[in-house]
Amino acid sequence: MTIIDGKKVSEEIQNEIAAEVQKIKSAGKKIPHLAAILVGNDGASETYVGGKVKACEKVGFVSTLVRMPDITSEKELLDKIAELNNDKDIDGFIVQLPLPKHINEQKVTEAIDPKKDVDGFHPANVGRMALNLPTYLPATPYGIIQLLERYKIETAGKNCVVIGRSHIVGLPMSILMVRNSNPGNCTVTITHSKTKNLKELCLQADIIIAALGKAEFLTADHVKQGAVIIDVGITRVKSDKTKTGWKLLGDVKYDEVAPKCSFITPVPGGVGPMTITSLMMNTLKACRREIY
Ligand code: NAD
Repeated sequence: MTIIDGKKVSEEIQNEIAAEVQKIKSAGKKIPHLAAILVGNDGASETYVGGKVKACEKVGFVSTLVRMPDITSEKELLDKIAELNNDKDIDGFIVQLPLPKHINEQKVTEAIDPKKDVDGFHPANVGRMALNLPTYLPATPYGIIQLLERYKIETAGKNCVVIGRSHIVGLPMSILMVRNSNPGNCTVTITHSKTKNLKELCLQADIIIAALGKAEFLTADHVKQGAVIIDVGITRVKSDKTKTGWKLLGDVKYDEVAPKCSFITPVPGGVGPMTITSLMMNTLKACRREIY
């Protein structure tokens, strides 16, 4: 059984990006510039955006954090997006989700110029992904693809079960695994809260990607011997064994599932560290005009 070390792969990729930035600098070219819009002061969003800004510093990108109060109107946010769309110095930007309830997230997503949509959430980029055209892949699925690639995990012809169909993880993941590419070329079954025979489907899977957000949901009796398990879930639970008083659990009951697997991602330290790194990869692509 191999434990997939997302922290290590993430560091490797960030070092590769930093080396690219050095080359860009030496050549006197424009340094990649990522902007993030943060509306309101939700604690979790602050942490996520903070992590993205830190990662930019680490790889040598320029970053801009645009803070807007939670009373910002939808029009004010759309105006700010138009401004960033037209700002030649900014290669790509994200609007940190979730947004305050009075703002329509779909409208906001569609207002971002697809050329600068480094989150890969714009319908034009989702469509390009489905058609296997060059695009910005959504960060978490892109990170998983990187892990499969770097660990040389065979996917062609394999049965893959994706648990969860969210627009940011499950659905794009199922598209990536079915595409005619490597990693990809799987026979994919996408499952969700209304799926009736989940255990039966999982037992036939060579690869299971669990993204449902229910701590330790996937138990050993769901998993066949030798399966590859990718655990996307992150649930914070109380713990009297840690200093902080809480710990993170994945969607997989790790201790009993791991002995049956060929490969498994731990939580924390598996998929999680890859997400911000994928955003850095997309920003580099945006700066190099690799997609559009
Ligand atoms: P979501 O709540 O938007 O979607 C959950 C999906 O799971 C839904 O499609 C639902 O139909 C499905 N589901 C729920 N119960 C199910 C069941 N019993 N059987 C089968 N399917 C079921 O969640 P999300 O945003 O996709 O996130 C999923 C998990 O991944 C969460 O724990 C989240 O914190 C985590 N996450 C981690 C990262 C990362 O960087 N590692 C990034 C994004 C999300």
